[in-house]
Parts: sequence; structure tokens; C-alpha cells
Amino acid sequence: MDERFDCIIVGGGPAGLAAAMTLARADARFLLVERGEWSGAKNVSGGVLWGRDLARLVPNYWEEEDAGWERFVNHRRLTFMDDGASFSLDFKSDHFNTPPYTGLTVLRSRFDAWLAGKVDEVLEESEHGESLLATDILVEEVIKENDKVTGIRAGGEEFFADCVILAEGVNNLLTRQVGLQTDYVPAEGLAVGVKEVIRFEESVLRDRFQLGERSGMSNEFVGYASDGVEGGGFLYTNRDSVSIGLVLGMADLRKAGKKPYDLLNQFKTHPTVADAIRGGEVLEYNAKVVSTGDMRVMPKEIYADGVLVAGEAANLVLNAGRAIQGMDYAMRSGILAAETVVEAKKVQDFSEAFLQHYRTALDNSYVMQDLRGFQQAVQVLHSPAMFQQVPRLVCDFGREFFTVDNKPTKKAYQILRDVRKEHIGYWDLIKLGSRAARAL
Ligand SMILES: Cc1cc2nc3c(=O)[nH]c(=O)nc-3n(C[C@H](O)[C@H](O)[C@H](O)COP(=O)(O)OP(=O)(O)OC[C@H]3O[C@@H](n4cnc5c(N)ncnc54)[C@H](O)[C@@H]3O)c2cc1C
Repeated sequence: MDERFDCIIVGGGPAGLAAAMTLARADARFLLVERGEWSGAKNVSGGVLWGRDLARLVPNYWEEEDAGWERFVNHRRLTFMDDGASFSLDFKSDHFNTPPYTGLTVLRSRFDAWLAGKVDEVLEESEHGESLLATDILVEEVIKENDKVTGIRAGGEEFFADCVILAEGVNNLLTRQVGLQTDYVPAEGLAVGVKEVIRFEESVLRDRFQLGERSGMSNEFVGYASDGVEGGGFLYTNRDSVSIGLVLGMADLRKAGKKPYDLLNQFKTHPTVADAIRGGEVLEYNAKVVSTGDMRVMPKEIYADGVLVAGEAANLVLNAGRAIQGMDYAMRSGILAAETVVEAKKVQDFSEAFLQHYRTALDNSYVMQDLRGFQQAVQVLHSPAMFQQVPRLVCDFGREFFTVDNKPTKKAYQILRDVRKEHIGYWDLIKLGSRAARAL
């Protein structure tokens, strides 16, 4: 095989596979290199894949009996917790029930492998058949000639291309090697995710969470879940298991001297969570670094001569209180990067000047609009009051509001006034409330 390609993609996660599918459909000749034994073998997400981009990549994916997703989300819950209580905002709606769905729970080892299989199917149908998904190979180095990226070194061999898409995820060593990201990323810009997959009989799971045949629930938690450490928890229903975990600010975790796994164990003993996972069997445990969505730690640029950076390698992740978004951003940026490569191929121009179209496309997409628009939310959610005082205040309010005893009943505003005094100063609450109202 001629070892020259139109494009080399490093990484077979959502960003890399979205790029690969886009190139495969455009009949471009590419090589995707993934270090895992198969795509997804080493990947971790909570995880809900938000948005509808999967339908762009695999039209009518929901019609396939054994597609790689678990359940579509039609039930969402945000839970505030202290050590004994939980208070939830709960939303279930049939508008979520129509495909293409806007939220899919996924287990990455299954989902990524399935998506890679779909790319292979498109390649098999294509006339050229010279593109390749290669697994179990680590890309050690990016090759540069005269300041232009021209290929990669992997498994002791060299491969060349007009353009390289770096979709290597959060540990973006190659992005650093080409000089697009500084070597040092402060701990404040990173979080640690820990997660367990807990298995149930499917019928038990469906009864317990009131699920339909393929419908599912996503539940995020704030407060006791992270025990005073910046961050929060999640519980997502899969076909016959739940994914439960925490995402914890790395700097804060270090300061508090706490261990992620101890916090996860503690979270699992909370009465609300313990009831939800009772009788389940722990199948796996994972831990992984994840970006916080703070744009100050994004790479300096996401393109240069002969190279584009997509997905979490470009720190495209956001948690602005509604959902953790990373896989959808990865997919959209992978698609946009590949579309730029297709256009560059038409004019045979892979220079920095042409590749900046990728930056423009990403800037104009919902990804950068959200990241820019919710930077203040990222800051507000980092403030200790949001994961300490506010959840306790909400739970104390719930304790009084929902308790019917043989005593005179307080009005809601009186309860709020009294519990507020116990947890946070009046002006602090007003300031936080107005910041949150503007930011979220
Ligand atoms: C605990 C946790 C919960 C999360 N929950 C959610 C969620 O609910 N929803 C959501 O949207 N996002 C969630 N995220 C974030 C999401 O997982 C990531 O943002 C997303 O996976 C990024 O996709 P990617 O393709 O850019 O990178 P990755 O998924 O990390 O894929 C990168 C790929 O590159 C490969 N690779 C890396 N370096 C090399 C190399 N040198 N050579 C060859 N291959 C290489 C890796 O093996 C991997 O397959 C969560 C993350 C964590 C840790």
C-alpha cells in the first residue's frame, strides 16, 4: 500500500470517528490510527451523547436492532443533595421520544466499536477501498518538515498525508508536540472523572427507573455527591446497567486531600443513591481526566500548517449545569475538521491560511457559541457556594416544605427566609443569584 494519504486521523473516539465517517463519505483517502485494541477499548464517558449529529453520520441509526447505543433519554433529573436528603427538578416529556433522539446513553467500549464498524461498512462500499482504520497502534510522534505537519510516526513506521487531524482526547501530547498547546495545563482547568457500571436484570432496571423498552433517564447530582469538592455526580441508565460516577475538580480535590474512589463509595451510600442501585452488580470501574470547559486552558490555536485539532484534544467540553457535553462537541468538531480537509483537497491547499476555515466553521457552530456564551457559568459553578451551601439550603427547604406535622404550617417564603439564614448571608445569596441568573 502507498503510505501517503489525503488525511491521517490520530484517535478513534467520537471526534476521530466522526472525521473518518465524513472523509469516507466524501471518498477521501485516509488512515485512522487508534492506540486501543479496538475503538472504545480504553475510552470513558458518563455518558450521554447529546444532540443529533449521530444521525448525520449514521442516518436512521435507530432502526438498527443492535446499534451501539443503550437508551434514548426522555427523562431528566437534576438533584440537590445533603447528607440525608435529596431535592430534584424532574422533567419527563414525550417530545424526547421521536428519532433522531437528542440524548443517547452510551457505553464507550460498545459505542465506539459500533461506530468504527459503520465507518468500515461505508469504506467497503466505496470504490477506492484504500482508507483504513488501524487499531492497537500508538502514534508516537507527528512529523514536521519546514514547519509543516506532513505525517506521523507510529509503530516504528512513518506515514505521510496532506493533513493530520489530531483527535487524541484530553491527554493531548501530540497537540503539545506541534506547539499548539502549552506543555503545562494548570490543575484548575482539569477534572477527574470516576465511574462504575452496575448491572441489573433488565426488567428490574425498567421497573425501578420507570423506563420504556428503549427510553432512559439521566440524573445529575450537586452537593453531597462531591462532599464539598468542586464537581458533581451522575447516574445514567443503560440497557441493563447504570453508569454512576463523579466528576471532581482536580485542584480542589488535591486541596481537600480526598480520593475520588472514596468519594464515589460515599456517594453510593447516600440513601437516595443506595435505593437506586440496590442489588446491582458492579461490572467495571474507570477513572479518567476530563476538561472543565474553561477556555483559558484551550490550545492557543486549533490549526496550523497541515494539522487540525478536534474534540477534547482542543478542550471542547462544557458543563454549565445542564449536562456534561464533550462527545457531541467532539463529533461536530470532527465533522467540521474533515469537511475542511475535503475542501482543502479540492484546491490542493493544506496551508495554515486555508485550514483556518476550520476555525471559522467551529466559531460559527453551536460548539464555540456555547463555550463562549457559558464561560461565566463555568466560573459560577466553580464557586464553593454552588456545591456546598446551595444544595444544603435547598434540602433544608425541602425538609420543611414537605413535612406535614401537627404544627402551624409556615408559608414557603418564611421557610426560605429561615433556612437561608442558616446557610448563606443575604447579600451573598442575592449576588450569587444574580450572577447565576445571568450566567446560566
Ligand atoms: C467520567 C466522565 C464522564 C463524562 N460524561 C460525559 C457525558 O455524559 N457526555 C458527554 O458528551 N461527554 C462526557 N464526558 C466527556 C467525553 O467523554 C469526552 O469529551 C469525549 O470522549 C471526547 O471525545 P474525543 O474523541 O475528543 O476524545 P476521546 O474520546 O478521549 O478519544 C481519543 C482517542 O484517541 C486515542 N489516542 C490518544 N492518543 C493516541 C495516540 N497517540 N495514538 C493513537 N491513538 C491515540 C484514544 O485511545 C482514544 O480512543 C465525560 C468524561 C468523563 C471522563
